[in-house]
Amino acid sequence: MRIWLLDILACPICKHYPLDLTILKWETDVKLFSKVETAFKSRQLPVLEENCILTLPSGKKDKCIKISEEGHLQVEDEFSREKRPFLDYLRIIKEKTESAQTIADATGSSPTSVLEQVKTNARDKIKRTLKEVETAGTRTSTDEEKKSLQEVMPEIHLLNWYFFLTEVDEALISCRKCHRWYPVIETIPHMLPDDLRNADEDIAFLKKWSSELGASVLDEGKPFNMKTQKTEKVVKKRVKIR
Ligand SMILES: [Zn+2]
Repeated sequence: MRIWLLDILACPICKHYPLDLTILKWETDVKLFSKVETAFKSRQLPVLEENCILTLPSGKKDKCIKISEEGHLQVEDEFSREKRPFLDYLRIIKEKTESAQTIADATGSSPTSVLEQVKTNARDKIKRTLKEVETAGTRTSTDEEKKSLQEVMPEIHLLNWYFFLTEVDEALISCRKCHRWYPVIETIPHMLPDDLRNADEDIAFLKKWSSELGASVLDEGKPFNMKTQKTEKVVKKRVKIR
């Protein structure tokens, strides 16, 4: 599962949006996280650029971020989907850093630390830049805009890489409103209604990750949790006795 998917997923039962994501295992090589994190912290743009290469449906490789000047500065990437004036683009990615606040990474070390960068430093930097560009308003020249863009290039690359180029192997997607949870297994989110779920498989998933998951899911998660499992066992025993 790519992180951007969270932008379009709503709870299949209560339709709540956005959902929370707890990452339990990455498909992406953990070493890559530490490489990207180091490049981000030391602001090595070439390293970030070489990791931000998209493979198009045609098989061609392309840069994540495209910049053009048509009267004023325009930016295009997977977040904006089309060329957008710099100010509009900043507003879009600021929202993305806000949406990352519903993500938790329980895998530890560099992936957890990269997410922290997205949620704090990258968010703050983009917020500040947006404010500056908004304050300057229409008086801003293209050269000034370019300078501001250059300053946030590491942030933009980090966000593109994290949202579009990493892959989550196992995770838990949860709904704050109805307390349902959904597993991500072998990179695929299983967003099924209650009656199509397999209790044994779901309980096995919770058990596997019990030390990484909080009590809200383990004890109160719906439709199954560690307590419902015990209840089911008791019911089965009673049936046997009869
Ligand atoms: Zn729900």
